[in-house]
Amino acid sequence: MQPFRKLAHVHSGKELLDIAFRRASKSASSLSFKRGTPPIVMAKAREITRVRTAGDILYHRLQKIVKSFPSIDSLEGFYRDFIDIFYGVDNFKRILGSIYKASFIIKRLQRRYVRLIKRAQTPEEARKLCIQAYGRMSSVIDMISDRLNFLAEAFRTLKSLPAVDLSVPRIVVSGYPNVGKSTFVSKVSTASPEVAEYPFTTKNVIVGCIYKDSRKICQIIDTPGLLDRPISERNVLEKQAISAIIHLANIILFIMDPTLSSGYTIEEQINLLGEIESYSKNKPVIVVLNKIDIADETTLEKVRRELSDRKVLEMSALLGENVDKVIEYALKIIGETKGAD
Ligand code: GDP
Repeated sequence: MQPFRKLAHVHSGKELLDIAFRRASKSASSLSFKRGTPPIVMAKAREITRVRTAGDILYHRLQKIVKSFPSIDSLEGFYRDFIDIFYGVDNFKRILGSIYKASFIIKRLQRRYVRLIKRAQTPEEARKLCIQAYGRMSSVIDMISDRLNFLAEAFRTLKSLPAVDLSVPRIVVSGYPNVGKSTFVSKVSTASPEVAEYPFTTKNVIVGCIYKDSRKICQIIDTPGLLDRPISERNVLEKQAISAIIHLANIILFIMDPTLSSGYTIEEQINLLGEIESYSKNKPVIVVLNKIDIADETTLEKVRRELSDRKVLEMSALLGENVDKVIEYALKIIGETKGAD
């Protein structure tokens, strides 16, 4: 489940005030009075309606923003990590808290000015009090205007995050372009993979499900453009995006092309492997040599020797050879890692 799909739309401070004051005017002008009603009574009723309506709208809109956000502490892994990596959990909570507080300040102002208007002696005084109330409400909204802009952007981003089922393990694939990652993902995942935009980058995240005996056993995630080039050359946002994806993974499959048909040397590929490993800290990284159907034995031997200090799997994603074994092995390692936690 994607926990952010139902986040409220966040208006800018200016938009919020426009909406509130426009509605307030409309409500006040739709009031009707019996003939002969004293001007002071009519004036007070109008100004009270204005202050009440504007206050209610601002209060409810601000409340809605905060209430539409799920409790950060109850969020699961990836989504909480994402907030932490991109915005900082404490910072996010502080900002939501200040919006919530602002809603109560608006409510208090509304009550106070309604009381004052009730005691007004003249239509002019009532009008002046209403203008004062508007001014003070505007100041409150102006004060949180930057935070509203921040939330508007953050909510848009969070809504677009890919829906990842966190109840089953996640395998993230990595490796240079053209080594066979997407061929592998489409070969092992039976459902057609979901392609979701990935915030802050022009990249997509591809999430495929793997079923066994009609039970979903894991998800496989490909991130074209992210985990397929040296991380050291990335900008800050991309590094953050990479961190979030790595947080999402239970395991990373590093796919190598020993035939060099992808255009990258073995050395370049091993260097990238080193970077991914140093970036992924405690996440297991499994190396898989792909395209063994066309790889020549001498090169394969050379790669095996270079990686002799680790377990290396081999497959042909194109022919579907050994692909199930790779998934089984990954799940076994995930199981062992979990057991060791
Ligand atoms: P990606 O950029 O890493 O996702 O790579 P692709 O999956 O798009 O594959 C790049 C090219 O390699 C395509 O032409 C695939 O058909 C080919 N390819 C992928 N896996 C294999 C394989 O196991 N054997 C052979 N011979 N070709 C493969």
